[in-house]
Amino acid sequence: DSADYDSEVESVCPFCGVGCQVSLKVKNGKIKYVEGINGPANEGRLCVKGRFGFDYVHHEHRLTKPLVRREGAPKGLNVDPGNWQEVFREATWDEAMDLAAGGLARLRDDRGTTVAGFGSAKCTNEEAYLFQKLIRQGFGHNNVDHCTRLCHASSVAALMENVGSGAVTATFNQIEHSDVAIVIGCNPVENHPVAATYFKQFTKRGGKLIVMDPRGVGLRRFATHMLQFKPGADVSMLNAIMHTIVEEGLYDQQYIDAFTENWEAEKEHLKQFPPEKMEALCGIPAETLRQVARDFAGAKAAMIFWGMGISQHIHGTDNSRCLISLALMCGQVGRPGAGLHPLRGQNNVQGASDAGLIPMFLPDYQPVGDDGVRSAFTEVWKSGDFSAEKGLTVTEILDAVHAGDIKGMYILGENPAMSDPDVEHARDALAKLEHLVVQDIFLTETANYADVILPASGFAEKSGTVTNTNRQVQMGRPALAPPGEAREDWAITVDLAQRLGLDWHYDSPADVFAEMALNMKSLSNITWDRLERENAVTYPSLSPQDPGQAIVFGDGFPRADGRARFTPASVIPPDDLPDADYPMVLTTGRQLEHWHTGSMTRRSKVLDAVEPEANCSLHPSTLRQLGVEPGGMVRLTTKRGSIDVMARADRAVAPDMVFLPFAYVEAAANILTNPALDPYGKIPEFKYSAVRVEKA
Ligand code: SF4
Repeated sequence: DSADYDSEVESVCPFCGVGCQVSLKVKNGKIKYVEGINGPANEGRLCVKGRFGFDYVHHEHRLTKPLVRREGAPKGLNVDPGNWQEVFREATWDEAMDLAAGGLARLRDDRGTTVAGFGSAKCTNEEAYLFQKLIRQGFGHNNVDHCTRLCHASSVAALMENVGSGAVTATFNQIEHSDVAIVIGCNPVENHPVAATYFKQFTKRGGKLIVMDPRGVGLRRFATHMLQFKPGADVSMLNAIMHTIVEEGLYDQQYIDAFTENWEAEKEHLKQFPPEKMEALCGIPAETLRQVARDFAGAKAAMIFWGMGISQHIHGTDNSRCLISLALMCGQVGRPGAGLHPLRGQNNVQGASDAGLIPMFLPDYQPVGDDGVRSAFTEVWKSGDFSAEKGLTVTEILDAVHAGDIKGMYILGENPAMSDPDVEHARDALAKLEHLVVQDIFLTETANYADVILPASGFAEKSGTVTNTNRQVQMGRPALAPPGEAREDWAITVDLAQRLGLDWHYDSPADVFAEMALNMKSLSNITWDRLERENAVTYPSLSPQDPGQAIVFGDGFPRADGRARFTPASVIPPDDLPDADYPMVLTTGRQLEHWHTGSMTRRSKVLDAVEPEANCSLHPSTLRQLGVEPGGMVRLTTKRGSIDVMARADRAVAPDMVFLPFAYVEAAANILTNPALDPYGKIPEFKYSAVRVEKA
């Protein structure tokens, strides 16, 4: 009832990559409630986070004034957000910005040392674009990255290599035209809940769902096949399925001839992986592997969806290579109901990556090493050249801090003191920095290490575009003013750039978007005004009237010769294998009610009330062996550290595994996780660590 609110504003949910459109109902300067509206990805649907998780924007812990560290105050996780005065003092914007810019400029100018930047997939496209421009133009190098490195970097590496583009080839809604779908290494019921509703509908109208995961994830109840394979055994399982397709002649030779290269090498390679040989490695009976191969290859239209269970391994790129090869050999790309879809995690991780917030690419994945590309940007930026060398990635930047090569950082909306693997190593790096500027909405664990903290704006307090997992660029609008003296993130970055001596002039995010479109073909036919009118346009859009292409690559791939490539993958074991001291396997992930490092959802009343306590899940038989009742405490220890956490009984977790959500600072999962990297995507192996579990 419109009497319930003073105003309503259409925007986009700030949590996951599904990108549900919402209507924010505002009364007396506060969001009273939220409704789903008819966005292209959600058609009015919302999950519990989208519906009830918005009140963090009104939380008393919001930063409302710039803060600067008191002289000599120790750095570390010792600041109570309600009692920060002992460590920080309030400052005017002018003083804080002078200190922030002055410290970074000093490191740049006097010491020859490097300053690095972590941007955010929680910010808008315009904010991400400005952030990478600031680091490149202001400091002359490419040491800028964001959480894609911890998320889908290996998927993107494989997609860029073999398909020529890192984005999805079909929107997830295309599943309505599929008759078979694989969902592997992800748990959409908890992590992409609105997308999961489309997957469930697909099974209700007879679609065959093949779920593959070491954990018995929520979609198993709807699956034709549930393959609960051994953790880390993705390549052996997928190669066995592809072996069957080759052996039984089920591949699509016509498609392979028309659109791919390197097929003969792939075919030869797959000879080594008969299901009968692979079943012991992956834990799935050979006959099941063969049946799955026949079902997938027999599909009229099939999609493959994947998540962090595929990407967060030292063989994450190989895992994705297998999925790409599987789709290509069956001709399952570029048609209605067919495609490759890595489900993006953060609401704007697709957009932030598109906008160039990555160390090897400028916007639209244009390589930094290409002289023509760099000069196209410096022409628009009206500035001199910057380094042609790829920059350092998230984990490499923190290693460089330890090595003394990086002494200053600008961190916008990221929380590496919680989100990095082997987090004590990350926290030690943050403590070592000579100058750290953090821009955020809360005094996060990372902000505890800052010299200057700049109060920023939440999703409901600013204009800006965001791009979801479907390549849909959507308009976010402000429903509220930022609290106190907090400012919009784009405006803070512009102010900082000007104080660093850069000649920047933007009046609004619309100005930034217009500049982005000059060098981003993906934004062809997508303008700010159009997004204001239509709310969402999918890229690529072929004309000002085209709502955008839900399916791409029907007539070839954006690679030199128009052909996608088969890249064979071999079996590489996980880095940190169980032994007598650490006999079980730890895997980490999200749960429905909480978002990433918890800074937002743990400050949301409803979500925190449903899931208030750090927890892990163990098989009931494992709990019995440990002598622990469900709800009792266990101690988890890996080679990197130890935490105590409440244990739940969950039959979906294999008896030799433990599942640990990563949203809880009091039992931070990343104290335990392994920083070993995939060599291509440079993504850490969050999904597999040898662990000892004891009664606490
Ligand atoms: Fe928000 Fe994702 Fe839930 Fe949609 S599915 S309401 S985008 S958290």
